[in-house]
Formats: sequence, structure tokens, C-alpha cells
Amino acid sequence: MVLELVEGYDLDKLTIATLASHSSLQIAHGAKKEGFSTLLVVTEDRFGFYMQFKHLVDSFLLVRRWSDLCSREVVEVLREHNSVFVPHGSFIEYVGMDCATSLNVPIFGLRSLFPVEADQHAKMELLRSAGIPTPTVYSLNTEIDSLAIVKLPGAKGGRGYFIASSRQEITERLRALANSGLVSDVSNVIIQEYLIGVAAYFHYFNSPVLERLEITGADIRYESDVDGLRRVPVEKLKKIGVEPSFTVVGNIPVVLRESLLSTVYDYGEKFVNKTKEVLPPGLVGPFCLEGVIDRDANIKIFEFSGRIVAGTNLYIDGSPYTYLYWDEPMSVGRRIAREIRLAIERNRLDRVFT
Ligand code: AMP
Repeated sequence: MVLELVEGYDLDKLTIATLASHSSLQIAHGAKKEGFSTLLVVTEDRFGFYMQFKHLVDSFLLVRRWSDLCSREVVEVLREHNSVFVPHGSFIEYVGMDCATSLNVPIFGLRSLFPVEADQHAKMELLRSAGIPTPTVYSLNTEIDSLAIVKLPGAKGGRGYFIASSRQEITERLRALANSGLVSDVSNVIIQEYLIGVAAYFHYFNSPVLERLEITGADIRYESDVDGLRRVPVEKLKKIGVEPSFTVVGNIPVVLRESLLSTVYDYGEKFVNKTKEVLPPGLVGPFCLEGVIDRDANIKIFEFSGRIVAGTNLYIDGSPYTYLYWDEPMSVGRRIAREIRLAIERNRLDRVFT
């Protein structure tokens, strides 16, 4: 499959391509640093903005809709440019699962993980089966005697999540949401134990070429309005009946206490090993485990992303960790390009493209 995808490619002239969104500027910047050509697939409304960075982008490919990515014409242009496509956090949401899994262009990453990422229950099962501690997941039939967070299907960036403390409350609120038409499929809701502690996002890069896992950074998400509400006295909030929402508005850099790093690394290794077992060849490149660190420094993981996360945009000039591995400015965007370059040099493209 992989070899077929690069058939007819001039491997000395690969282009790193992605959608103009999410972390595309970081990806393009890193690709240029490693000497690659770059291509951004962009919609008309964003073209003006991205043109400011034309020094990072060799070709813009204008589309009417993101889903046009899989059209014959667009694929033809991508292939003419010897493109390898880098899927970022917005990729599947924008182009849709069918296009993402069937795109007739080599992808830097693990394509077979995309459908798992789209299914909240399958995601949690993958983490659990890897031996990583996760929050309890409740069904709508179980009694809940502590705090639970209810995650709606298709919720973008935590929008519309809510916290509840009983089964009855969850059922009533979901019914109200279904009636309002906001949630189409209540069965796909996931109800998790609400973890008390500090939520942190651990960034990793798995290198099939160097056969090693690297920690590339960490961030904290700033979420509206849960992170703003702490400024308001609790009794005032109660009075007006405000409940926190979890809409991501930005990312804040964090350097982890060094004694946490070995646990974080261990979870990353467990995750990579599990994907190698159930979805060979296993994870390629960047991924993120999202967890809560409690007061005893125990970490539970409540979510993962199998692609580059937006929190890596904090470290375009490298993170404290990438400096330790590379001793030069190394963003995750650049790390992707470096991996592709190493794979070409060592004739190992089959390890990094799917
Ligand atoms: P997610 O969409 O799973 O990344 O969750 C969005 C946000 O909800 C996170 O950044 C956390 O602030 C919060 N969150 C999600 N799951 C949990 C959990 N099990 N316990 C506590 N907070 C959570």
C-alpha cells in the first residue's frame, strides 16, 4: 500500500502538504528548515491571511470546500508535487473520515488510528488496554455517586460538556439537549469520572526511523469558562446558576516537574507499544496524551490525540525537551520533516508513511 502510494514520486523532491489551519504554519516552517518544498491546501476565505506567510509556502492549492481535498483534481496536483500529507488536529473534522482514510496520497502518520480517534469509547478502550490508568467510564444505566463529566459527541474543543453528580441529572439534561436538537445521538455520549487535579497535555513524537520515543513538550489548555470562573466567588455563581463549560480558547506552556517525566514517558511507551500490537505498524510521529495529575502525583489519562496537537504551536522555536534531544531549535513541525528526511536517507519511508 505504502509503496503504491509513492509510485511515480521523485523522492528527492518531496513536498510537505497540509490543510491551512491548526498547526499548518508550524508544519510549513519546520518543513522549510529541513529543506522541503511546502504546499498548503486553503479555502478562499483564509487565503489572504495565509498569503502573509508565503515565504513559508511554495504552493497554495485553493479549494472551495475542505472535502475537495479528495477530489480527483486536487489529488492529481498533490501527486504532481510528490506530496506527503501531514494530518493535524483539524484534518478529520474538516475533510471527513472517508476522505481522511482513503486519500490517495502518502500520509505521515497512522491512518488506521483515525476511525479509533473518532469513537470516544474505542479511544478509552485503547488507552485502558495499553495499561494506562484512565477515569472510570459510566454507562447511562449505572448509578453515579461522585462527579462525572459528560462529553457530547462531535463537541468541538470541549464545547457543551457538562459536569453532573447523578444519573438522573445526566438523563434529564441529555433529554433536554436531544429535544433542543443540539445532540443528535445520545448513545454516543461518554460519561467519565470527573478527575480532580491539574489537567495537562503531554506531547510526544514516536520515531520509527530512530526507533525511539521523544517527549516534545507539554501544555495546559485555557478553557472558557471553567478557567475564568475561579475569579468569581462560588456562592455568586450558585446564585446565578452558572455552570462551567470547557471551550478551549488557548494553550499555556508548562514545564513538568521532572519527577513526573518518567511516568509520562512510561505511558507514552505503553501507548506506542499497544498501537504496534493492534494497529501495525503503530504510531508514527506526533501524538498527545491528555490527563489529570492529582495531589499525590498520580496521573490518569482521559483522552488522546494521534496527531500533532495545537499546544505544540507554543514551541515553534523548540521546547525545553526538544532542546535536550536535539540541541537545536526543533519544533514538532520541524521534527516531522526531520523524520521524513531521515527516512529518505535510510530508505525507510515504509516506516513513516501509511
Ligand atoms: P476533551 O475534549 O476530552 O479533551 O476535554 C475537554 C476538557 O474537559 C479538558 O481539557 C478538561 O479540562 C476537561 N476534562 C475532560 N475529561 C475530564 C475528566 N475525566 N476529568 C476532568 N476534566 C476533564
